[in-house]
Amino acid sequence: MVAVTEREEVRWYECEKCGLLFDVKEDAEQHEANCDAEEPSYIQ
Ligand SMILES: [Zn+2]
Repeated sequence: MVAVTEREEVRWYECEKCGLLFDVKEDAEQHEANCDAEEPSYIQ
């Protein structure tokens, strides 16, 4: 699930897995679907 954040009146879409920011929602969703990052709590 992509998170939406606003900074200085610009809306960003954040990958909830790795925290990467995108300015296009579709890019963020596409990245997140292929994101390799796992929840840190599972690794440790
Ligand atoms: Zn990611």
